[in-house]
Amino acid sequence: MTEQTTQKDQPRPDSEIPAETSQLAHDDPSTRHPEQDAPIQDQPEPGLDVETDPVPDIGLDSYKGLGRLQGRKALITGGDSGIGAAVAIAYAREGADVAIAYLPQEQRDADRVLEAIREAGRTAVALPGDLMDEDYRTSVVDRAAEQLGGLDILVNNAGKQVVSESLEELTDQQVFETFQVNILSMYTLSRAALKHMGPGSTIVNTTSIQAYNPNPMLLDYAATKSAINSFTKGLGQQLAPKGIRVNAVAPGPVWTVLQVSDGQPKEKLPTFGEDTPTGRPGQPVEMAPAYVFLASPESSYVVGETLNANGGTPTP
Ligand code: NAD
Ligand code: MG
Repeated sequence: MTEQTTQKDQPRPDSEIPAETSQLAHDDPSTRHPEQDAPIQDQPEPGLDVETDPVPDIGLDSYKGLGRLQGRKALITGGDSGIGAAVAIAYAREGADVAIAYLPQEQRDADRVLEAIREAGRTAVALPGDLMDEDYRTSVVDRAAEQLGGLDILVNNAGKQVVSESLEELTDQQVFETFQVNILSMYTLSRAALKHMGPGSTIVNTTSIQAYNPNPMLLDYAATKSAINSFTKGLGQQLAPKGIRVNAVAPGPVWTVLQVSDGQPKEKLPTFGEDTPTGRPGQPVEMAPAYVFLASPESSYVVGETLNANGGTPTP
């Protein structure tokens, strides 16, 4: 019995794994990405992926496209880093032309993504600006459509997440900014996108596990994510008769600079994501296939859905 337990606990060398199961062994989700060993670290908001330790995996070396979004034209907000960057690279490798929106101070991160889109042989459009700024917010979608020659995918993904210990510490200004970036902008951008979209177009919103399991230190952020779920279900019903589908992705803990730039208490960074059933944080590249699925015709009967990619935490 003891011997058996010992054997089971030892990882088997590849040579001992039958050829037909060897690929599956490499795909074990609990070990698919290396141990994080993330140190305690800080960056001012919004921070840069390229300065994050370890650098989040946005799929530069790993995402392989299958042509599932051939000829599509997509705008992705927050497309410079983290989840949005992984989606931008995946969409380009699936055959889409891609515009990314991001804050001007994120240009270094954006440049990596723009280059990857061009390397995939697709058109890359850079739209730096601040979603707090009304002129930018009300013009960015039209500018994307103009430069892409149309628009049939909008990914509302930009997000602000700053922890605060107590309600007394949380200012109205922060609440307003979090709501403006995370949810209010979705109304403005989605409305503008409808002018360009026809049947077959898709909108994908980024929500969060925080919509269901609100962290007491994220009173503003978590509330925006619940609102995004309701917005998605309502707009999904409104637009389905027009052939436009609206869905959302709800990531769990994903290693991005959002967490490093005051998205988490500092002492939580070294063990971030380890409390999930999978036992580790997700990487941005692991979110991308959900966004590809929801944007592609493969999901033609999926409307108003929130697809959870959270390492196994149960959701309603
Ligand atoms: P990220 O920091 O890489 O991306 C967020 C992006 O939002 C930034 O790159 C920035 O371009 C954009 N943004 C923020 N404020 C802006 C403003 N005022 N104007 C314009 N753009 C602005 O982090 P991420 O984790 O990839 O976040 C992407 C989305 O995923 C967010 O909506 C976030 O809430 C959501 N999310 C993240 C996690 C996680 O664990 N990382 C979990 C669930 C949901
Ligand atoms: Mg960024």
